[in-house]
Amino acid sequence: MNTIPFFDIGQMNATVSDEIHAAARRALDSGWYILGRECEGFERNLAAQLGAGHVAGCNSGTDALRLSLLAAGVGHGHEVITVSNTAIPTVAAICSTGAVPVFVDVDTDTWLMDAKRVAEALTVRTKAVMAVHLYGNMVDMSRLNSVLCEAGRGDVAVIEDVAQAQGSALAGRQAGTIGRFGAFSFYPSKNIGALGDGGAVCCAGEADSGAVRMLRNYGQRDRYNAEMAGGINSRLDEVQAAILSAKLPHLNEWNSRKAIIMNRYREELRGLPVIFQEVTDGCRPAWHLCVIALENGTVRGGLQEHLRSRGIQTLIHYPIPCHRQPAFASAQSTDLYITEKLAGRILSLPLNPVLSDAEQSRVIASIRDFF
Ligand SMILES: *Cc1c(COP(=O)(O)O)cnc(C)c1O
Repeated sequence: MNTIPFFDIGQMNATVSDEIHAAARRALDSGWYILGRECEGFERNLAAQLGAGHVAGCNSGTDALRLSLLAAGVGHGHEVITVSNTAIPTVAAICSTGAVPVFVDVDTDTWLMDAKRVAEALTVRTKAVMAVHLYGNMVDMSRLNSVLCEAGRGDVAVIEDVAQAQGSALAGRQAGTIGRFGAFSFYPSKNIGALGDGGAVCCAGEADSGAVRMLRNYGQRDRYNAEMAGGINSRLDEVQAAILSAKLPHLNEWNSRKAIIMNRYREELRGLPVIFQEVTDGCRPAWHLCVIALENGTVRGGLQEHLRSRGIQTLIHYPIPCHRQPAFASAQSTDLYITEKLAGRILSLPLNPVLSDAEQSRVIASIRDFF
């Protein structure tokens, strides 16, 4: 019996092996490795695909979040509102600025930031809100904006964590172009993955983009002129940028394949005690993960073990919510009832462009079998 891996990234990259090799060779042979033509080219390509905003490459998704926060002036004494059911880097980025993360609960059905809870968590110290488009579904950005406006807090910077939602759209607008900042990750398993680390910030405004460009390069405006305090070294190197430019044109095709797989899971698991994330109104998600919620932790554990015995790999995103992580002990939490409940019941099924129909049939049959 063949095993079905959660996601075989090597197999994925092999589907565009020639393009990746040609791009890498071009960059390797160029003699220029940092902030050159490839990075500029990729920034233009991504901006064109997004249809709005100014894009600056950087070293990782974590740095894209951190640079957004720094450009928004976030630092010691500030609070940043976000959710606890997210990847650790979301929160690590906030802490890296000296600001305090404030966790709010998620919506029962969409499993995403609940704007009502954001309104309740605002204080004079609130400097930014980090909206995480988890698994590919998008936070209701217009509701979030109206909540901030109604509270008279148009000054609060809205940062989208787009690491899991590259290609998703809300009312026709691409994820990452709605907030003041959109932070992208090109971690190898993401919707567009580098062959190493990579990230990008999409800024709505030109001034912000200029700030991010200085901050990613020691605070320099240009060579040997350091203008901005707090600069770091976080650049998208030429080899990764070239590879990303080669992969970017495939984004829609890969996302479409995943949409077909996701729809099939939803249809063929119907009638079982399996809950799916409800898609936000007006959102066309580019699914990064297929996450289901089971009745309780015992059923989840049983199903995961059953699938493992059938050679099917599953994961949990994420087993321990951020507010329970020792590293984030200094964060503030509000009531996180839904977050807690989800963490004990969720399970991620294989979902990737190289999952075959036959493999998916086996996953579905094995789940039906379990019940
Ligand atoms: C992957 C991920 C990040 C961080 O990306 P890196 O490129 O690994 O630094 C941030 N937020 C979320 C939600 C992620 O899934």
